[in-house]
Parts: sequence; C-alpha cells; structure tokens
Amino acid sequence: MEQPNTKPPASRNDALFERAKKLIPGGVNSPVRAFKAVGGTPRFVQRAQGAYFWDADGKRYIDYIGSWGPMILGHGHPAVLEAVQKALLEGFSYGAPTEREVELAEEIVRLMPSIEMVRLVSSGTEAGMSAIRLARGATGRSKILKFEGCYHGHADALLVKAGSGLATFGNPTSAGVPPEVVQHTLVLEYNNVTQLEEAFALHGAEVACLIIEPIAGNMNFVRASVPFMKRCRELCTQYGALLVFDEVMTGFRVALGGAQSVYAKSIPGFKPDMTVLGKVIGGGMPLAAFGGTRAVMEQLAPMGSVYQAGTLSGNPVATACGLATLREVQKPGFYEALGERTRSLVSGLTAAGAKSGVPFCGDSEGGMFGFFLLGQLPQNYATVMTTDSPAFNRFFHAMLDSGVYYAPALYEAGFVSAAHTAEDIASTVAAAHDFFSSPAS
Ligand code: PLP
Repeated sequence: MEQPNTKPPASRNDALFERAKKLIPGGVNSPVRAFKAVGGTPRFVQRAQGAYFWDADGKRYIDYIGSWGPMILGHGHPAVLEAVQKALLEGFSYGAPTEREVELAEEIVRLMPSIEMVRLVSSGTEAGMSAIRLARGATGRSKILKFEGCYHGHADALLVKAGSGLATFGNPTSAGVPPEVVQHTLVLEYNNVTQLEEAFALHGAEVACLIIEPIAGNMNFVRASVPFMKRCRELCTQYGALLVFDEVMTGFRVALGGAQSVYAKSIPGFKPDMTVLGKVIGGGMPLAAFGGTRAVMEQLAPMGSVYQAGTLSGNPVATACGLATLREVQKPGFYEALGERTRSLVSGLTAAGAKSGVPFCGDSEGGMFGFFLLGQLPQNYATVMTTDSPAFNRFFHAMLDSGVYYAPALYEAGFVSAAHTAEDIASTVAAAHDFFSSPAS
C-alpha cells in the first residue's frame, strides 16, 4: 500500500500554500495569485519595501507587480506611511462624509478634465459595475459593448466572451453567470475598426455605452490604435452611447492625466464621457472611483434615480493613502523619470532577446509595460494568446529563481515604480540575458 507522504514541505512558502489550500479555495483570495498558469508555489509575502518584497523564506524579489498596479511609489513610501498612520489614529471608518473625500474628488477632477463629478467606491469591480448601471440609467438603453481581452472586474454582465457573430451577444466566461444576464453585452475584437462600425450599424441605437481599457493591461500590454480610438469616440457620439474609459490600471499610472491624456495628444479635444479609476488612486488601499460629466453623474442616488452605495466608500484611511500618493506623483519630473526607467527595462529586455535570437518585443507607457515572446507587438487578444506559453513559463520561473517577480501569466501587464533603480533594471536585464543565452530557454 502506498504510504502517505510525511516529508516536511521544502520551504515555508510550500508549507503556507498547503495550509492555505485546506481552507481557502486554491489557497488564494484572487485566482491569478495561485500560479495556476505557470505552475509552482506562489510566494507568500512577508514584507515589502521600495521596489522589493521578501517571501516567507526570506528571499528578496524585485517586484514588477506592485500589488497589480497601485504601488507606483514603491512599497512603504515615507510620506504615504505618515499620512496613513495619522489617519488611522483619527479612526478607521465613520460611514459619514469627511473632508478628505472632498479633497480627493477635487484632485481627481482637477487632474482629469473629462471628469466633472466623481463617486468613490472600494474596488475597480464595484466602480466598473456602477458605471455601467449609470450609463444604462442615463441613456435608458440596455446594451453594452466591450472588447475581447479587456477586463473590467468580475461583475456578471462583464464576464463575457464573444458570441458566434455580431448579431449574437456574448457567452458567459464563468459558471454561475446565467446567459440571460449577458444577453445585452456584445463582445468585439480590440483594434478592429470594421467590426466596430458593423456593431454600431446593427445595434447603435440600443447601446448605452462602450467600455474599453484604452491601453489594455489584461492582455499583457496592447494599445488601442489612434484610428480605432478615434472611431470609438465618433461612433459613441453619433449614436448617443457613452464612451467609458476603464482606467483602473492606466489612471495616474501611464501619465498624470491617465491614458485619456495620451490619446488627447493625437486626437484633438479627445475625452471619454465616463472614467473608471482604481489602483493608484488608493495607493494600495481599497479605493476606486467612477466619474464623468455632471449631467450623467447627477443621475446617481441620492440626486437621481440610479442606485449605488457602499458602507466603506470613501474610507478615511484609504483616502489619506490615495491623497498622499497623488501628491507625490505630481512632483515635477515624476512621470518623465518613471517613463524613462520603464523604457530602459523594456529596451534592455528586448536587446537581451535579440542578442540570443529569441523572438521578443515589448512596449510601455509611463510606469506600465508589457513584453511578449513574439516577433511583433500584438493588436488583439487572439494574437496575444498565440504566445508560446511553455516558453513563457520557463522564462517566468528562471526570473523568479533570480529574484525577479513578474506577473505569473503571459496576459498580464507589468509595473515599474519610482523606487526601482537603474541597478534593479540592470540586474533584471542581466537575469533575462542569462536565461535567453542558456540551453534552458
Ligand atoms: N478594470 C481593470 C482595467 C482592471 O485591471 C481591474 C483589476 O485588475 C479591474 C477593473 C477590477 O478592479 P478590482 O480588482 O479592484 O476589482
């Protein structure tokens, strides 16, 4: 008879994962943390500082995830710590309005000219879901358009993949989402102008909103082309649909004015009608927001008839953390330096790939980047998913062994913080070079 395996786990990460799996589904509280795509044991974080975190075995990693985007200043920035500590002493939550909520709203409205009014919530999912409800309430229409490969949180109506054609609406991507719930969601190919025009010609008069990640970080890093974005804006205006920018990832990450400011450089006067924010605006605390024109936002309860609420919305500790973070990113030269450092990472990795003849390309904007084991930058989800995933997994694990922590899935973006130094970038590139030039690659 086979004996039970009594061998002690090799590491504390392994031991914690075994313990976690007994009580937490998959051992994690959010699926991608489980390393399911790449295999192996997730690293359990013990502490983090600056550009690094240390796992349960005391090993240090250069962190290119930064809590999936919020930690733009790096971990434990002194000004943010001070603001959070001060706020904590004044109370964690009141369920009543505070001055800091007003200050944060003022900051957001000042920095993003498309936003005239804003509502604070606690997660990107909540913000996206509420923005869709508001768009439907404000337009009196039911249908929404989204793009394959864009993630807008896990609200039922957004967990959808494309149906069999433009006349048919989407299919749920998760069990537990009834097909009727997604029957109003049409899923289109990213960067496909022809399909976009056809969809509006067929359904335009019934479309409440088009929601898009302008630089999609949930299919690694894919930019909406300028002509495609211009057409999104034109068609929404023509058909009376709202253009909703999901800037949960890109907001205050790719530029101070978000991705919308990047597109406004190429498309004069460009503005979305609504914007969804999260991640950086909370600086690592649970805080997100959605905002837009006054006319639309005034439809929200208690002013209007679209209901939305939250016990912890505008939490005083989270707003202190977000405000302190936004103060730091507004210092002169912040995004120039961050953008330069991020570009140096991508160009270093690309050169390392080229030296060894490995197909490799990458792109970045501000402190957000992506790289692909492909010969050229993909324009949509289907092409991203042609990546050789066993090769990506080998790369991921080699980097992890060298103390470099990238997202454990080939369809996730990466993030550089203001705390990453030129030496961090150089050692990351050197580790990639070692891998690419080894037989293991
Ligand atoms: N929208 C985008 C673009 C995201 O990247 C995410 C999360 O990664 C969300 C929405 C959902 O945000 P949250 O995880 O805070 O619910």
